[in-house]
Amino acid sequence: MNVKTIGVIASGGDSSGMNAALRAVVRMAVNNNFKVKGIYGGYQGLIEDNIKEFSSRDVSGIIHEGGVIIFSGRSDDFKSYDGRCKAVENMKKHSIDALVVIGGDGSFKGLSILINEHKIIGIGIPGTIDNDLYGTDWTIGFDTAVNVAVEAIDRLRDTATSHDRLFIVEVMGRSAGYIALYSGLASGSEAILIPETPTDLDRVCKILQEGKLKGKRSSIIVVAEGDESGGAFSIADKIKNKTGWDTRVSVLGHIQRGGRPTAFDRIIASRMGVAAVKSIMEGKNNVMVGIINDQIVYTPLQDAIEKKKNPNPSYLETAEILSQ
Ligand code: ADP
Repeated sequence: MNVKTIGVIASGGDSSGMNAALRAVVRMAVNNNFKVKGIYGGYQGLIEDNIKEFSSRDVSGIIHEGGVIIFSGRSDDFKSYDGRCKAVENMKKHSIDALVVIGGDGSFKGLSILINEHKIIGIGIPGTIDNDLYGTDWTIGFDTAVNVAVEAIDRLRDTATSHDRLFIVEVMGRSAGYIALYSGLASGSEAILIPETPTDLDRVCKILQEGKLKGKRSSIIVVAEGDESGGAFSIADKIKNKTGWDTRVSVLGHIQRGGRPTAFDRIIASRMGVAAVKSIMEGKNNVMVGIINDQIVYTPLQDAIEKKKNPNPSYLETAEILSQ
């Protein structure tokens, strides 16, 4: 198909760097003589015809801003066949031949269904703080989320040390431990609990006890919200029952999502945005852009959705070696 107009959507949970990706898609497309239309508020914007043409100047001054100027969002209507037919009607109305969707696996599931049902062209750009997508080493927003978590843990460490305390810090990650693993390693945490590996709280208590005996004045456990041992409060209760230790809990929550994107997130977002438009020019379809070993790669959306990427176990080993 001869693509003339590209629509761009941000969908699902927002992540820092989505603006940089939007800017890259718009400028690469305009520079190659495509029309670009921004769709506001995720798939719901497509259904409700909340669509505007973008020029290169419309994306000026946003590379350093968190969130996303076309707003991200979730749409239940898009999960129904009728909702998707409405979305395609509006695509036709605006002559949109190809969609670039910045989002996570849920958004790609929706895109893949739309491609198969209505024979449109669709390309995914991985934008999620969880970094849990197969087909890319990095997702846009992960590095920023990790840096926010590390800054928070550093602050908690000051208090933990001053008061000789054990802090339990819960970071985001319902089914993925990447944020916990990276922020825990970078902040020198004594234990990191992630959903991908079994958690043995007796062993954690033993490690913390050994640390105390070696003169440690503070300890920090970083736990991913989806770890099977429960959230930070439940772990605090269990540790209290096992050891009698008094703990302090901090749940970082949504502060990890927003804020100025790191240089790393801006760079990968820019590279992926350019690569997404390039892939349309090369006739690709139904793929997600990714970066593996610093190279741009394209993975079938189906694989990105279905296959599992696991964190490198050597990160946990390294953290454990250095925690004593
Ligand atoms: P993420 O993309 O961050 O994983 P969600 O899982 O919330 O976020 O998905 C974002 C949106 O993608 C949903 O609100 C919905 O509009 C669309 N979507 C997700 N799953 C499906 C599906 N099975 N069928 C159609 N659309 C879907």
